[in-house]
Amino acid sequence: MGRGRDQMVNCGACGRRLPRGKAVTYERSIVFSTDLKTADDVKLMERRKCYYCPSCGKSLGIYEKKRKRAMARYNR
Ligand SMILES: [Zn+2]
Repeated sequence: MGRGRDQMVNCGACGRRLPRGKAVTYERSIVFSTDLKTADDVKLMERRKCYYCPSCGKSLGIYEKKRKRAMARYNR
């Protein structure tokens, strides 16, 4: 039994279980804000990792987003 090492994750779109090594990881940041228009405005950033199966990753355009992100970082 050498195959149980890869952690299983659920696809965020279709819920299919797949090994993490095959999943598409997409990290998105969620911003919580108090919506006060003052200097004391509290902002919380939370980074959440989402996993998707390759087919959902394609249909959701995650590959595309990832590429754009990389480009943005490169152009900075
Ligand atoms: Zn899926």
